[in-house]
Amino acid sequence: MFHLILTVCLAAASGNCAPVLLPEGDAATQQDCEAQAQRIAQDWLTARPDLVGGPTTCRANADLPASDLQEVAPSVHVHVGQIMQMEQSQDGRIANLGVVVGRDSVAVIDAGVSRAEGQALYVALRRLTDKPVSDLVLTHAHPDHIFGASVLAEAGARIWGHRTLPQALTNRGPIYLENLARLYEPTQWVATQTVLPDQTVATTARIDLGGRSLLLTAWPAAHTDGDLTVLDEETGTFFTGDLLFRGLAPVLDGSLRGWLKWMNESAPMGARIIVPGHGQPAASWAEAAGPQYRFLKALADETGRQIDNNIPMSEAVPRIVRAMANEAEFWEAFEETVARDATAAYKELEWE
Ligand SMILES: [Zn+2]
Repeated sequence: MFHLILTVCLAAASGNCAPVLLPEGDAATQQDCEAQAQRIAQDWLTARPDLVGGPTTCRANADLPASDLQEVAPSVHVHVGQIMQMEQSQDGRIANLGVVVGRDSVAVIDAGVSRAEGQALYVALRRLTDKPVSDLVLTHAHPDHIFGASVLAEAGARIWGHRTLPQALTNRGPIYLENLARLYEPTQWVATQTVLPDQTVATTARIDLGGRSLLLTAWPAAHTDGDLTVLDEETGTFFTGDLLFRGLAPVLDGSLRGWLKWMNESAPMGARIIVPGHGQPAASWAEAAGPQYRFLKALADETGRQIDNNIPMSEAVPRIVRAMANEAEFWEAFEETVARDATAAYKELEWE
């Protein structure tokens, strides 16, 4: 397969350019790709007046950068992101991404931090199959999971999210995009944009890939205010999004009480492979969830102790961090993360 690549630059600063893969230009031969390149590139640019188009090329799939995918169960593929926080990374590609191939079509679970990462995932996916990409599930609103969505939407995917996702993306999208531009080289973020879901989930929903169904479940506030999980019922592969972290310190941006409750009550029956939002897939719930449960429980207990002793937040946060120091060796980015978590926990628990 050949892919159409268009170089685009920011109109405001033409040195800021990036290669953009336009899935509509996919073709079996280079000749077929080139024949329609100008028309497709022109149409795409017309809808994006903030970008200036440069040359187009048609490149073989094998010659383009692609995400690493590992097959964790039959026709279930996972890209494991770098185990670090976005600020420590060169390109923000820290989240785990999933691809499930059904009889008739393909679903993607999370799209990565940028158009560039979404494209690398799309190229990798096209090495597996040329079936249509029917669905993209965004597990929650955090930037490392969502900003590759545009390329998958252009490939034809319906985009699914928690019922709170549209509001969260509308509120936070502009700030997240500013952060990408501050943290990374232009090739990593030019042409990245917020894409809102066209299907939202309030309780549960099913995606049919042809003889294979995915169960989507929307949860009350836990990691964020809008976490969505995906269970591939055929293989028992459970994509938790950031409801589970492995190796990277868990980030609290929803409700600590809600998150602990989810961990206590929500392990799905029949889950055989657990794919966390960050870190390696695990073969059992206990292996996947044990360390995070201990971390969150310690955070809740220590925060509760400070509040019970009427310690103000500014003093309580460093005390909580010190009290949790024996957790540090188990988690990447512990120092940066735990102080923020303690602040969020204090604000939540002081109202109890
Ligand atoms: Zn997250």
